[in-house]
Amino acid sequence: MSNDSKNYDVIILGAGASGLYCAMHASARGRKVLVLDHSPKAGRKIRVAGGGKCNFTNMDLSAANYVSANPHFVKSALARHTQWDFISFIAEAGIAYEEREDGQLFTLDGAGLIAGLLVTNCHRSGVEILLDRKIEAVTGKGPFQVVSGTQVFEAGSLVVALGSPAWPQVGATSLGYHIAEQYGLKVLPSRPALVPFSVGGRDGRFCKELSGNALPVSIKCEGRTFTGDMLFTHKGISGPAVLQISNYWRRGSALTIDLLPGQDIAGLLEEHRTENTLLNNFLARFFTRKMVGLLLEDRDADTPVSQLTKARRQELAERIHAWVVKPQGTEGFNKAEVAAGGVDTAEISSKTMEVRNFPGLYFIGEVLDVTGWLGGYNLQWAWSSGYAAAQFV
Ligand SMILES: Cc1cc2nc3c(=O)[nH]c(=O)nc-3n(C[C@H](O)[C@H](O)[C@H](O)COP(=O)(O)OP(=O)(O)OC[C@H]3O[C@@H](n4cnc5c(N)ncnc54)[C@H](O)[C@@H]3O)c2cc1C
Repeated sequence: MSNDSKNYDVIILGAGASGLYCAMHASARGRKVLVLDHSPKAGRKIRVAGGGKCNFTNMDLSAANYVSANPHFVKSALARHTQWDFISFIAEAGIAYEEREDGQLFTLDGAGLIAGLLVTNCHRSGVEILLDRKIEAVTGKGPFQVVSGTQVFEAGSLVVALGSPAWPQVGATSLGYHIAEQYGLKVLPSRPALVPFSVGGRDGRFCKELSGNALPVSIKCEGRTFTGDMLFTHKGISGPAVLQISNYWRRGSALTIDLLPGQDIAGLLEEHRTENTLLNNFLARFFTRKMVGLLLEDRDADTPVSQLTKARRQELAERIHAWVVKPQGTEGFNKAEVAAGGVDTAEISSKTMEVRNFPGLYFIGEVLDVTGWLGGYNLQWAWSSGYAAAQFV
């Protein structure tokens, strides 16, 4: 080793959610830990999470909330470090939080408190965190060497906690994937997820006209259905239900959107068959005037409900309950909260996060092929996988 070299038990690449949490717990076990990151600040994604309030976990947590080529992979780590463990951790630190819809837990006073707590805990337990450090090369088969500038750092355990390329505005890159490939691991194609869609053509114009409007919908794609709010944007569609389904969407597949979930417009029109109410006034009971105009496209707006044919009632029902949209694409990694795909879990121990054929090499967090739903699941995966590795590094 060069003169300018230092030895550690554990080097963690990435001072994000999983890296800091792993560092803190490994250090508590008495391990000498170094964390390296190219960002000027630790935990930048935690700080922007949940609109700045950090949706740090969810009351209702199971493997069913994750997408991965191996749907069982997350079970062990989630069971050994649950949402309750993380809730106790922040409650003991005096961080106030609230439960919102669907069991989502958010801080009351800002995401920075969680990032700050992790950094403080790392410092207290003696973790060395070096920021603004370019990771130039990773070598060795255990011990591992990490080259940064003129320095070489060496450790018996190397933890890759470099996240995914989603949201590069806060320093996200694909370096974790490249290191995995360097060590012969398979990386499943990564794509933007929890991301809005861009929609073109006639449907795109419909979205653009309505941009800024939101409504509750249910969206189906690839055998999955999510119910929640959808927001029309000038590029297409966004909002919680849309982000959720984006985890399952594949290029070329269509979304089927129910614009009035829980109701049956054909049945309602049938029920009101004897009324003289004009169709546009009838539909305005459920949608904004603007949306009614766009849905009807100048057809039958002033026709009394009583004069609609059965075929027209059914046509309307299809337009409202089964609007088929074929997105042109997603809005890309710049607008994606996470990336789907990543390091193939087939070669990683679900108990320790260690690469099976490479003792001492670990992968944790979003760099792995584990993608959580919207709702605190991605951060919980960062905590659980980070904790799992910390017990063995
Ligand atoms: C806008 C936004 C909002 C989100 N909100 C939520 C939410 O409310 N709840 C939730 O559960 N999840 C949320 N997520 C997702 C969640 O933040 C991530 O899944 C989680 O942070 C992943 O943790 P990680 O440790 O794997 O990666 P990260 O937290 O991204 O950490 C990776 C670290 O590696 C560093 N790094 C990357 N490349 C390099 C390189 N080349 N050299 C050196 N260092 C490098 C980065 O600087 C970073 O510090 C959100 C994501 C975004 C983008």
